[in-house]
This record gives sequence, C-alpha cells and structure tokens, in this order.
Amino acid sequence: MRKPMVAGNWKMNGSLALVAQVGEALSDLDAPDVDVIVCPPFPYVGPLRRTLPDTSPVGVGGQDVSAQDSGAFTGEVAGSMLAEMGCSHVVVGHSERRALHGETDALIAEKVQAALRAGLTPIVCVGETLEERDADRTEAVLGAQVDAILALGAFVVEKLVIAYEPVWAIGTGRTAAPEQAQAVHQFIRARVAAALGDDVAQNLVLLYGGSVKPANAAELFACEDVDGGLIGGAALDPAAFLDIVAAAR
Ligand code: PEP
Repeated sequence: MRKPMVAGNWKMNGSLALVAQVGEALSDLDAPDVDVIVCPPFPYVGPLRRTLPDTSPVGVGGQDVSAQDSGAFTGEVAGSMLAEMGCSHVVVGHSERRALHGETDALIAEKVQAALRAGLTPIVCVGETLEERDADRTEAVLGAQVDAILALGAFVVEKLVIAYEPVWAIGTGRTAAPEQAQAVHQFIRARVAAALGDDVAQNLVLLYGGSVKPANAAELFACEDVDGGLIGGAALDPAAFLDIVAAAR
C-alpha cells in the first residue's frame, strides 16, 4: 500500500513570520496516515525545522539541490547541507527550474543521485507545457522526462517520489480535471512497470501538482493513481494546507 503524501512548495515566498505561523499550525498535526512535507526557501529550512517539535512527523525539504557534493559552486546548496539542517526531502526538476534555469533531464538525474547520496528523498517533477499538450505530445514529453529517471535503475526509483505537474496548471488557477490527472498518472505508472517491473511501479508514490486547493484536492486524490499532491500557492496558507492534508487521508 502506498502512503499518501502532501508536500508544500513555498517557491520564493514566505518570511520568518510565515515559518512561525506554519510551524505552529503543523506542530500538533495528527495525520499518521499521510506524509506531510514543507519545502520553504533555503534560509527558512533550519528555522522551520526548529519551530516544529522534535517529535513532529512533518518533514522539511529543500526546493532544489546541487548535483555536486561540495566545492566552488557559488550559490548552490549541497544535499549534505540540507540533510544537516534537518531536511528529509528535496524537490528536483521543478518546471520553474527547467524553464528558468535550463535544467535538463540529464542534470535532474544527477541531482536525484546527489540527493540520494545525502540520504534525502527526491520529489522529482515532470510535466508538459500547454503547447506540448495541444500538439498531442504529452506522453512523448513525459515519457522522455520519466525515462531519464528510470534509467537510474530500480534501486534509485524505489527511493523517490514523482510529481506530475502540468506546466499549464502551475500557479494559473487552472487545475487538471481528475480524469486528466489520472490518465497521466496511469501512463507514468505503466511506464515504470514496463521498465522496472510491477512491484516498483505499484510502490511508487505519484503526486499531482498544479493549482491544488481545498476545493479540488479530494476529487484529485480520489483518483486511483494519484497518491497526494505537491502544493504551491495553497501551501502559503496554513489553514488551506491543513485542509488539503485532510483530503489526502
Ligand atoms: C508548484 O509550484 O509546484 C505548484 C504546484 O504550484 P501551484 O499549486 O501554485 O499551482
């Protein structure tokens, strides 16, 4: 059985005040049947971890990780640093990193390996643009993005989470219909099964991301192959985020 996950991606938003607010809202969270992760900007990772009780099941994650372990890479953050600050997870290959920072499938695969070397669980994002969907290229694009990760082998794929985030649904208020999300999740799971076997595919946690909010979370999470969500905007509102966690239970 796959355990549902709800992960919040603050992107470049938030403040120490929001860290305090979210830390308080989540400090007595009682949802043992859902993995709850919060990914604030790098400077807030440590403060958020310290705001949560030591025994809190809530995980803290980074939004990106360097492919390198250390050295002359100004501005980058190593997986070991995230782990030392109390992170358990890290988002890799978000569409904003792919589009704005030119991250390729090959670099994303390297980052996945770097995250795993540091003991972090990578949340690997894949997704097609509106132009690609309109040109009937959704499966070709996703197939290539997913294959780059599957090439790392079952030993790696067993340790990660994949988030399907259609680019046209991110931050746009436009959500994929549950049937659209389910169709793509089913496609991804079948792709994993074909490459690495049914066991790996059935155990892989597949999140949906793209304008998830309390009003649409339950219907998305009810889809057979949707195991939870990667939440952007709504993760900045503690009450909305908690409602989304509740929808995953
Ligand atoms: C995201 O950035 O990963 C995301 C899903 O954003 P939003 O929920 O705001 O669409």
